[in-house]
Amino acid sequence: MRLKQFVGAVVAGGLLGISPALAETILVTDQAAYKKAVVGLEPGDKLVLANGVWRDFEIVFEALGEEGNPVSLIAETPGDVIISGQSNLQLAGEFLEVSGLVFKNGYTPTSEVISFRVDADTVANNSRVTGVVIDNFNQPERQEVDFWVMVYGKNNRFDHNHIVGKRNKGVTMAVRLNTEQSQENHHRIDHNYFGPRQILGSNGGETLRIGTSHHSLADSFTTVENNYFDRCDGELEIISNKSGKNIFRNNTFYQSRGTLTMRHGNNNIVEGNVFFGNGADHTGGIRVINAGQTIRNNYMEGLKGTRFGGALVVMNGVPNSPINRYHQVKDATITNNSLINSDNIQLAAGSDAERSAVPVDSEFAENLIFHDDARDVFTVYDDVSGIAFSENVLAPMDPPEFADGFRREAMALDRADNGLLYPANDIGAGAPHDLSVTTKNETGVSWYPKSEPIVAFGSGRTTNVSPEPNALFYAVSAAKAGDTLVLQSGNYVVSKFLKIKKPLTIKGKGKVNIAFERSALFQISDGGSLRLSGVNISGKDAPDNAGNAVIRTSPYAMLENYRLEIVDTHFSDMDVNHSFNIISTAKGTFADNILIKDSSFEDVTGAVLKLDTENDDYGIYNAEYLTIANSNFKNIQGALVDFYRGGTDESTFGPHFELTDSKLTNVGGGKRNKSAASIHLHGVQVTHISGNTFVDSKSFLINHTVGEPKTRVVDNKFVDTLLPKNYELNSGLEPTAVIENNRVKNQ
Ligand code: CA
Repeated sequence: MRLKQFVGAVVAGGLLGISPALAETILVTDQAAYKKAVVGLEPGDKLVLANGVWRDFEIVFEALGEEGNPVSLIAETPGDVIISGQSNLQLAGEFLEVSGLVFKNGYTPTSEVISFRVDADTVANNSRVTGVVIDNFNQPERQEVDFWVMVYGKNNRFDHNHIVGKRNKGVTMAVRLNTEQSQENHHRIDHNYFGPRQILGSNGGETLRIGTSHHSLADSFTTVENNYFDRCDGELEIISNKSGKNIFRNNTFYQSRGTLTMRHGNNNIVEGNVFFGNGADHTGGIRVINAGQTIRNNYMEGLKGTRFGGALVVMNGVPNSPINRYHQVKDATITNNSLINSDNIQLAAGSDAERSAVPVDSEFAENLIFHDDARDVFTVYDDVSGIAFSENVLAPMDPPEFADGFRREAMALDRADNGLLYPANDIGAGAPHDLSVTTKNETGVSWYPKSEPIVAFGSGRTTNVSPEPNALFYAVSAAKAGDTLVLQSGNYVVSKFLKIKKPLTIKGKGKVNIAFERSALFQISDGGSLRLSGVNISGKDAPDNAGNAVIRTSPYAMLENYRLEIVDTHFSDMDVNHSFNIISTAKGTFADNILIKDSSFEDVTGAVLKLDTENDDYGIYNAEYLTIANSNFKNIQGALVDFYRGGTDESTFGPHFELTDSKLTNVGGGKRNKSAASIHLHGVQVTHISGNTFVDSKSFLINHTVGEPKTRVVDNKFVDTLLPKNYELNSGLEPTAVIENNRVKNQ
């Protein structure tokens, strides 16, 4: 192998003078040299990017290789070539191979990071991208759409790549079938590490999509195998299949929210996949729609998903369905799957006036269904006589009543060497013993760490802070991710914003009183999360202006989801002026979790939680989980919470709201409280309110917008407070909130 330092002027002549039979290895050290070298590459040539950071580099790699003799674009050392800033990669031609690059610290100026085409007519075929990393290469605005990998053309392979941390809107990777030269493509997507993708909080958070509804009757022949999907939580579709004759084989889905959805397209095979839910919320399996789908030899364990997000969901279709609705399930084969401790199997799901076409000519056989809690995992929404059930085995529950073809057997499960549970005795049902389970370290690259996505509270160092002027400010500035600041007893007056840019715990020891002189005490910005405990916070020194807050998010959009926990903390005197909120969030920010526990709030002129800034009705919202337990709220002029998710899109699991064992006294009655409610929920998907006492407070306003939200208001006490008002804004249904077993007392 000849290695030659590439120098601009020599290039053109040099290359022309070389016999095509002698492949060259050409090292380039800057973009100008790259642009010259890429012209005239011959089969077998290797173009090498020198180690270092390549900023603002839009790589166009267009060449013609030959079978077994590709033209390569490689890193001098895999992992040491960083593509940053405004950069991307476009491939076009034949028999190309790209490897070893790392995209980080930047984002694409176009809508795609890696694209297997340079324009609509010029695609790549027979080409491979392998051992490439894309890490947090996000548009700065979370609602700005882009796509990290778009595969066009035919016979391309995308393998052993490490794809992690997509935080803005848009599917992570897609196969396009938009022109004939990209259909019947026979791509292979294998051994990739699809690392954690945080909850997007709107549609457009899929990890992989194959096709679109428009071209969904075309066949793709794409094989997706031996990939590892690690906590891919973007939205309710992990994979959205929208084309025909694809194979999904031996992939591992580790604790990922959502399902592998056969959304459009026929005759696909889903086999030998392993789903570990670990009991996490909304972990699902496979959702079956359309004709000719084969679902066999899959293993699902610990999946807690409900409704369309269940472990196995067979949908009803729409008669003569338009291309973008639900096509009837026909000729489905669902055999030899193991469903272990997975909560929901849904049949004829989605049955309603529009989706009335029940599954037909289908088979459900030799599946193993085991549940420690003897739970009846089946929900049947319509006629399932079009599914032939046979030789299915259950334990320890009784066979379901809707069909024959199930038998109960006593069994114990043992974990085999492949990590899966099997019955000790051979029962002739369930996933095969030789199922090969793709592990994390078989995917991606060896030279790039598969890091944990978040730093836990309390995982760092502990530092004591005394009530000296500015001591708390400096301690917050100096803290590292995961650190804990322990405030010694005394009075703290904070004269500057405390900017939270890392996960941080602030904890009082003894009696700790905090007052603050700016319009907010804490500001959470990208990368920040806060856990606050054991302190008293007063608003008495805050400026005499409207709109103060104790905790607010950055006023700009935040890419990174944050966490906020308030425990054993007491808030008072938030009344120097009107509209003083405890927690204010900005548009374009998203909390994974807000927890309030064992805390009290008194004399507040605004709301306790303002989670209503996504007011465009795009199906976007400000927080996934809001949980309040064992807390007291007294004399709050605004609402306890204004929680808003507008629009009618059905692609998110949240928001979730839980309020338990708490007391509200005189909440919501201020004249500036626009909803005139003590609790204002609009489009919240899961609500649980129980064990609370409401005194002299305004009624709740609960608006349901879409997706059969689950709302329960039970076992509460309402004293001089009207029962909740629930409205169904779009479905035409009678109110569906369960409001029962509440005691009402009027004095
Ligand atoms: Ca979607």
